[in-house]
Amino acid sequence: MPLLDIQSLVVEYHTFRANVKAVDRVSLSLEKGRTLGLVGESGCGKSTLGLSTLRLIPPPGKIVSGQITLDGIDIINCPEEEIRRVRGKRVGYIFQDPMTSLNPVKKIGAHFVEMIRTHEPGVAEGDALKRAKEVLGRLGILPERINDFPHQFSGGMRQRVMIGLALALGPDLLIADEPTTSLDVIVEAQIIELLKELKESLGLTLVLITHNIGIIAETADHVAVMYAGRIAELGETGALFEKPMHPYTQALLNSVPNITKKGQVLSWIPGAPPDLAEPPPGCLFHPRCPYAFDRCRKEEPLLLKHNSSKVACHLYDRS
Ligand code: SF4
Repeated sequence: MPLLDIQSLVVEYHTFRANVKAVDRVSLSLEKGRTLGLVGESGCGKSTLGLSTLRLIPPPGKIVSGQITLDGIDIINCPEEEIRRVRGKRVGYIFQDPMTSLNPVKKIGAHFVEMIRTHEPGVAEGDALKRAKEVLGRLGILPERINDFPHQFSGGMRQRVMIGLALALGPDLLIADEPTTSLDVIVEAQIIELLKELKESLGLTLVLITHNIGIIAETADHVAVMYAGRIAELGETGALFEKPMHPYTQALLNSVPNITKKGQVLSWIPGAPPDLAEPPPGCLFHPRCPYAFDRCRKEEPLLLKHNSSKVACHLYDRS
């Protein structure tokens, strides 16, 4: 049984212009101990999908239909009390910007004490601080720094603190939402290496959300490429990188510099993602796709199995 199973999930943002489908009929599952990379441009629905797994969609967003099951727990329909237990304890979430996620007037140790004692009220403050020191030590942060405030840490160290908070309760699943966005490339590489190490040593299951397809190549076992709220392509990382099928996946890969390709000409994806309040008919990628043909402008492609992957593109659908 997969640890995380999502079926036909639809999440809408109700705006004065339209009900915008930020996540549209997304289905995927993740086995224990594996890493799933969710990749796509900003606004493609990957963070909304991540937040849905903890029922943390901010208003006016709403899960409209579908199913999310985490280790047998019906996330969409379980009582509020149960979902609070899931957050932090079963699923750790690393948010995008550590500076806005940490309370600037609270010492680092106090963040850990609050997190641990909310879920385990019987734990004494001293024991919670001891656990915080152990977790921070594992992340390369000196134990005495629990007495420091967030602004006394560098961006990379703050992100390590966020990872520590997400791990403090020993969750089964860790969701990292753009964990390296505000970091320079050296620190980014350190954080990704750290996540990989932790995944191996703690036996974690990891969902990595990023717009950087290069990070996915290094870390994920499976990849879901999202475009305009839908999955464009889904498959094992090796197969998908070796032979990307969807024109959007191909374009994403062609826009990444590769030092092994001498004389590589970098390309870009023309145009912009569609306005989901007024989506185009047919394939949502057709206004930007170099291979678009008549059927693409009229009929929405379904996500269908092709070899070992799944792809939503009429080029592969002979029906
Ligand atoms: Fe391009 Fe058509 Fe495939 Fe969409 S369905 S990605 S427009 S070829």
